[in-house]
Amino acid sequence: MPITLDPKLKSALAERIRYYNELGIYSFYRRVSAPSSIDSEFSSSAEDPIQPEQREDMSPRKLAVAARALPNEVAGGLEVISARPEAGIADPVEALGMIREDLGDCTRCRLATQGRKQIVFGVGDPHADLMFIGEAPGADEDIQGEPFVGRAGQLLTNMIKAMGLAREQVYIANIIKCRPPNNRTPERDECETCSPFLMRQVASIKPKVIVALGAVAARTLLAINDSMSNLRGRWYEFKPTGIRSNDPAWNGAKLAVTYHPAFLLRDPRQKKEAWKDLQMVMKELGLKPPVKTGAE
Ligand code: URA
Repeated sequence: MPITLDPKLKSALAERIRYYNELGIYSFYRRVSAPSSIDSEFSSSAEDPIQPEQREDMSPRKLAVAARALPNEVAGGLEVISARPEAGIADPVEALGMIREDLGDCTRCRLATQGRKQIVFGVGDPHADLMFIGEAPGADEDIQGEPFVGRAGQLLTNMIKAMGLAREQVYIANIIKCRPPNNRTPERDECETCSPFLMRQVASIKPKVIVALGAVAARTLLAINDSMSNLRGRWYEFKPTGIRSNDPAWNGAKLAVTYHPAFLLRDPRQKKEAWKDLQMVMKELGLKPPVKTGAE
Protein backbone atom coordinates (compact mmCIF):
# COMPACT_ATOMS: atom_id res chain seq x y z
CA MET A 1 0.00 0.00 0.00
CA PRO A 2 1.44 3.45 -0.84
CA ILE A 3 2.67 5.33 2.22
CA THR A 4 1.58 8.95 2.68
CA LEU A 5 4.14 10.98 4.57
CA ASP A 6 3.23 13.89 6.78
CA PRO A 7 4.51 16.96 4.79
CA LYS A 8 6.52 18.20 7.80
CA LEU A 9 8.17 14.82 8.19
CA LYS A 10 8.76 14.61 4.43
CA SER A 11 10.53 17.96 4.30
CA ALA A 12 12.62 17.16 7.41
CA LEU A 13 13.55 13.84 5.84
CA ALA A 14 14.50 15.50 2.53
CA GLU A 15 16.62 18.04 4.39
CA ARG A 16 18.40 15.30 6.32
CA ILE A 17 19.08 13.30 3.16
CA ARG A 18 20.48 16.44 1.51
CA TYR A 19 22.75 16.91 4.53
CA TYR A 20 24.08 13.36 4.22
CA ASN A 21 24.51 13.78 0.45
CA GLU A 22 26.65 16.82 1.09
CA LEU A 23 28.82 14.60 3.29
CA GLY A 24 29.11 12.22 0.34
CA ILE A 25 26.67 9.60 1.67
CA TYR A 26 24.04 8.42 -0.79
CA SER A 27 22.86 5.03 0.38
CA PHE A 28 20.54 4.58 3.34
CA TYR A 29 19.33 1.36 4.85
CA ARG A 30 16.05 0.51 6.41
CA ARG A 31 15.26 -2.78 8.05
CA VAL A 32 12.85 -4.72 5.86
CA SER A 33 11.10 -5.97 8.98
CA ALA A 34 10.69 -2.41 10.29
CA PRO A 35 7.23 -1.15 11.26
CA SER A 36 5.00 -0.75 8.22
CA SER A 37 4.56 2.99 8.62
CA ILE A 38 7.56 5.18 7.84
CA ASP A 39 6.04 7.73 10.22
CA SER A 40 6.26 5.38 13.15
CA GLU A 41 9.72 4.26 12.12
CA PHE A 42 11.25 7.71 12.05
CA SER A 43 9.22 9.88 14.42
CA SER A 44 10.74 10.50 17.78
CA SER A 45 9.73 14.03 18.57
CA ALA A 46 7.14 16.40 17.20
CA GLU A 47 9.73 19.20 16.90
CA ASP A 48 12.41 17.27 15.03
CA PRO A 49 11.04 13.92 13.99
CA ILE A 50 14.32 12.77 12.46
CA GLN A 51 17.22 12.49 14.82
CA PRO A 52 19.55 9.99 13.17
CA GLU A 53 22.42 10.80 15.49
CA GLN A 54 20.34 9.24 18.25
CA ARG A 55 19.20 6.30 16.18
CA GLU A 56 21.17 3.12 16.00
CA ASP A 57 20.30 2.35 12.39
CA MET A 58 20.72 5.83 10.86
CA SER A 59 24.16 7.03 11.98
CA PRO A 60 26.31 7.96 8.96
CA ARG A 61 29.32 6.01 10.27
CA LYS A 62 27.27 2.83 10.53
CA LEU A 63 25.77 3.50 7.11
CA ALA A 64 29.24 3.87 5.64
CA VAL A 65 30.36 0.63 7.28
CA ALA A 66 27.23 -1.12 6.03
CA ALA A 67 27.86 0.28 2.53
CA ARG A 68 31.31 -1.30 2.47
CA ALA A 69 30.21 -4.57 4.04
CA LEU A 70 27.14 -5.35 1.96
CA PRO A 71 27.74 -7.13 -1.34
CA ASN A 72 24.31 -6.62 -2.89
CA GLU A 73 21.53 -4.08 -3.11
CA VAL A 74 19.59 -6.09 -0.57
CA ALA A 75 21.52 -7.97 2.07
CA GLY A 76 21.19 -9.02 5.66
CA GLY A 77 17.59 -7.88 5.89
CA LEU A 78 18.51 -4.31 4.96
CA GLU A 79 16.94 -2.51 2.03
CA VAL A 80 18.84 0.21 0.19
CA ILE A 81 17.11 3.55 -0.25
CA SER A 82 19.18 5.63 -2.65
CA ALA A 83 18.97 9.41 -2.72
CA ARG A 84 20.99 9.66 -5.93
CA PRO A 85 18.42 10.25 -8.67
CA GLU A 86 20.77 8.69 -11.26
CA ALA A 87 21.31 5.49 -9.23
CA GLY A 88 20.37 2.53 -11.38
CA ILE A 89 20.62 4.54 -14.63
CA ALA A 90 23.08 2.65 -16.83
CA ASP A 91 23.32 5.27 -19.61
CA PRO A 92 26.05 7.74 -18.55
CA VAL A 93 24.61 10.51 -20.77
CA GLU A 94 21.30 10.31 -18.94
CA ALA A 95 22.98 9.91 -15.54
CA LEU A 96 25.20 12.97 -16.08
CA GLY A 97 22.15 14.98 -17.15
CA MET A 98 20.42 14.03 -13.89
CA ILE A 99 23.47 14.99 -11.82
CA ARG A 100 23.66 18.35 -13.61
CA GLU A 101 19.99 18.90 -12.93
CA ASP A 102 20.43 17.99 -9.26
CA LEU A 103 23.32 20.48 -9.01
CA GLY A 104 21.01 23.20 -10.34
CA ASP A 105 22.11 26.80 -9.87
CA CYS A 106 24.17 25.63 -6.90
CA THR A 107 24.43 27.81 -3.79
CA ARG A 108 25.79 25.10 -1.47
CA CYS A 109 29.00 27.00 -0.70
CA ARG A 110 30.27 30.58 -0.56
CA LEU A 111 31.65 30.48 -4.13
CA ALA A 112 28.11 31.02 -5.42
CA THR A 113 28.24 34.59 -4.13
CA GLN A 114 31.90 35.36 -4.73
CA GLY A 115 31.82 36.29 -8.38
CA ARG A 116 31.42 33.01 -10.26
CA LYS A 117 29.75 33.55 -13.61
CA GLN A 118 28.64 29.97 -14.12
CA ILE A 119 29.03 26.40 -12.94
CA VAL A 120 31.66 24.44 -14.88
CA PHE A 121 30.29 20.90 -14.79
CA GLY A 122 32.63 18.84 -16.97
CA VAL A 123 33.14 18.06 -20.64
CA GLY A 124 33.94 15.15 -22.93
CA ASP A 125 32.87 11.63 -23.72
CA PRO A 126 30.49 10.24 -21.07
CA HIS A 127 31.73 6.75 -22.07
CA ALA A 128 35.43 7.70 -21.77
CA ASP A 129 38.01 5.23 -20.48
CA LEU A 130 40.17 8.12 -19.35
CA MET A 131 39.23 11.01 -17.10
CA PHE A 132 41.33 14.04 -16.16
CA ILE A 133 40.50 15.85 -12.94
CA GLY A 134 41.87 19.32 -12.19
CA GLU A 135 41.43 21.75 -9.35
CA ALA A 136 38.94 24.51 -10.14
CA PRO A 137 37.82 26.65 -13.06
CA GLY A 138 39.85 29.78 -13.78
CA ALA A 139 38.75 32.99 -15.51
CA ASP A 140 38.47 31.51 -19.04
CA GLU A 141 36.60 28.45 -17.81
CA ASP A 142 34.25 30.66 -15.79
CA ILE A 143 33.41 32.64 -18.94
CA GLN A 144 33.09 29.66 -21.30
CA GLY A 145 31.54 27.14 -18.87
CA GLU A 146 34.04 24.44 -19.88
CA PRO A 147 37.02 23.10 -17.90
CA PHE A 148 40.58 23.64 -19.14
CA VAL A 149 40.04 26.09 -21.99
CA GLY A 150 42.65 28.71 -21.02
CA ARG A 151 46.44 28.45 -21.41
CA ALA A 152 46.69 25.49 -19.04
CA GLY A 153 43.82 23.92 -20.95
CA GLN A 154 45.67 24.34 -24.25
CA LEU A 155 48.62 22.48 -22.76
CA LEU A 156 46.33 19.75 -21.40
CA THR A 157 44.80 19.37 -24.89
CA ASN A 158 48.31 18.95 -26.31
CA MET A 159 49.18 16.40 -23.61
CA ILE A 160 46.05 14.42 -24.54
CA LYS A 161 47.01 14.59 -28.25
CA ALA A 162 50.54 13.39 -27.43
CA MET A 163 48.89 10.33 -25.87
CA GLY A 164 47.23 9.55 -29.21
CA LEU A 165 43.78 10.77 -28.19
CA ALA A 166 41.55 13.73 -29.03
CA ARG A 167 40.22 15.95 -26.25
CA GLU A 168 36.69 14.79 -27.15
CA GLN A 169 37.63 11.17 -26.36
CA VAL A 170 38.32 11.79 -22.67
CA TYR A 171 36.24 13.37 -19.90
CA ILE A 172 37.58 16.45 -18.11
CA ALA A 173 36.31 17.85 -14.80
CA ASN A 174 37.50 19.60 -11.67
CA ILE A 175 37.28 18.97 -7.93
CA ILE A 176 35.16 22.12 -7.62
CA LYS A 177 32.82 23.54 -10.19
CA CYS A 178 32.95 27.27 -9.47
CA ARG A 179 35.82 29.72 -9.91
CA PRO A 180 37.32 30.79 -6.58
CA PRO A 181 37.90 34.56 -6.33
CA ASN A 182 41.29 35.58 -7.80
CA ASN A 183 41.90 31.90 -8.61
CA ARG A 184 42.82 31.17 -5.01
CA THR A 185 43.25 27.55 -3.94
CA PRO A 186 39.89 26.01 -3.04
CA GLU A 187 39.17 25.76 0.67
CA ARG A 188 38.80 22.32 2.18
CA ASP A 189 35.09 22.81 2.95
CA GLU A 190 34.47 23.93 -0.66
CA CYS A 191 36.11 20.71 -1.92
CA GLU A 192 34.08 18.65 0.55
CA THR A 193 30.82 20.30 -0.48
CA CYS A 194 31.41 20.05 -4.21
CA SER A 195 33.32 16.79 -4.69
CA PRO A 196 30.31 14.49 -4.02
CA PHE A 197 28.97 15.67 -7.40
CA LEU A 198 32.28 14.77 -9.02
CA MET A 199 32.13 11.36 -7.32
CA ARG A 200 28.71 10.83 -8.88
CA GLN A 201 30.09 11.85 -12.29
CA VAL A 202 32.92 9.33 -11.91
CA ALA A 203 30.47 6.61 -10.82
CA SER A 204 28.34 7.30 -13.92
CA ILE A 205 31.21 7.47 -16.43
CA LYS A 206 33.05 4.48 -14.90
CA PRO A 207 36.45 5.32 -16.42
CA LYS A 208 39.26 2.77 -16.45
CA VAL A 209 41.83 5.40 -15.52
CA ILE A 210 41.72 8.77 -13.77
CA VAL A 211 44.60 11.25 -13.95
CA ALA A 212 44.66 13.69 -11.04
CA LEU A 213 46.19 16.98 -12.21
CA GLY A 214 48.13 18.62 -9.40
CA ALA A 215 48.23 18.43 -5.65
CA VAL A 216 44.72 19.68 -4.85
CA ALA A 217 43.09 17.08 -7.10
CA ALA A 218 45.40 14.28 -5.94
CA ARG A 219 45.02 15.04 -2.24
CA THR A 220 41.25 15.42 -2.43
CA LEU A 221 40.70 12.26 -4.47
CA LEU A 222 43.11 10.11 -2.47
CA ALA A 223 42.57 11.73 0.95
CA ILE A 224 46.36 11.70 1.35
CA ASN A 225 48.19 14.86 2.35
CA ASP A 226 51.53 14.20 0.67
CA SER A 227 53.93 16.00 -1.66
CA MET A 228 53.62 15.70 -5.44
CA SER A 229 56.97 13.92 -5.64
CA ASN A 230 55.67 11.22 -3.29
CA LEU A 231 52.26 11.00 -4.91
CA ARG A 232 53.47 10.61 -8.52
CA GLY A 233 54.89 7.53 -10.22
CA ARG A 234 52.54 4.83 -8.97
CA TRP A 235 49.00 3.53 -9.33
CA TYR A 236 46.20 3.93 -6.79
CA GLU A 237 42.91 2.04 -6.66
CA PHE A 238 40.10 4.60 -6.74
CA LYS A 239 36.44 4.15 -5.84
CA PRO A 240 34.17 7.21 -5.72
CA THR A 241 33.71 8.08 -2.04
CA GLY A 242 30.30 7.30 -0.58
CA ILE A 243 29.00 5.46 -3.65
CA ARG A 244 28.68 1.74 -4.09
CA SER A 245 28.70 0.76 -7.75
CA ASN A 246 25.86 -1.52 -8.71
CA ASP A 247 27.72 -2.47 -11.90
CA PRO A 248 29.57 -5.77 -11.38
CA ALA A 249 31.74 -4.92 -14.42
CA TRP A 250 33.16 -1.75 -12.81
CA ASN A 251 35.05 -2.04 -9.59
CA GLY A 252 36.56 1.44 -9.57
CA ALA A 253 39.32 3.10 -11.59
CA LYS A 254 43.09 3.12 -11.48
CA LEU A 255 44.34 6.56 -10.55
CA ALA A 256 47.64 8.23 -11.45
CA VAL A 257 48.90 11.63 -10.32
CA THR A 258 50.76 14.11 -12.51
CA TYR A 259 51.68 17.77 -12.49
CA HIS A 260 49.01 20.38 -13.13
CA PRO A 261 49.41 21.93 -16.61
CA ALA A 262 49.54 25.42 -15.02
CA PHE A 263 52.58 24.27 -13.02
CA LEU A 264 54.16 22.90 -16.21
CA LEU A 265 53.68 26.30 -17.86
CA ARG A 266 55.61 27.87 -14.99
CA ASP A 267 58.30 25.18 -14.93
CA PRO A 268 58.52 23.54 -18.39
CA ARG A 269 61.52 21.45 -17.29
CA GLN A 270 59.03 19.23 -15.44
CA LYS A 271 57.26 18.32 -18.70
CA LYS A 272 59.45 15.27 -19.17
CA GLU A 273 58.42 14.03 -15.72
CA ALA A 274 54.75 14.56 -16.62
CA TRP A 275 55.35 12.66 -19.87
CA LYS A 276 56.61 9.68 -17.82
CA ASP A 277 53.33 9.74 -15.87
CA LEU A 278 51.32 9.89 -19.08
CA GLN A 279 53.32 7.02 -20.59
CA MET A 280 52.39 4.91 -17.57
CA VAL A 281 48.73 5.71 -18.33
CA MET A 282 49.17 4.97 -22.05
CA LYS A 283 50.64 1.57 -21.25
CA GLU A 284 47.69 0.76 -19.01
CA LEU A 285 45.19 1.78 -21.72
CA GLY A 286 47.16 0.26 -24.63
CA LEU A 287 47.61 3.69 -26.28
CA LYS A 288 50.34 4.53 -28.76
CA PRO A 289 51.57 8.07 -29.49
CA PRO A 290 50.42 9.36 -32.91
CA VAL A 291 52.81 8.64 -35.78
CA LYS A 292 54.53 11.84 -36.95
CA THR A 293 54.12 12.36 -40.71
CA GLY A 294 56.75 15.07 -41.07
CA ALA A 295 54.06 17.39 -42.47
CA GLU A 296 53.27 18.69 -38.96
N1 URA B 1 42.87 24.79 -13.85
C1 URA B 1 42.10 23.80 -13.37
O1 URA B 1 42.46 23.12 -12.42
N2 URA B 1 40.95 23.57 -13.98
C2 URA B 1 40.53 24.24 -15.02
O2 URA B 1 39.45 23.94 -15.51
C3 URA B 1 41.36 25.27 -15.53
C4 URA B 1 42.52 25.53 -14.91
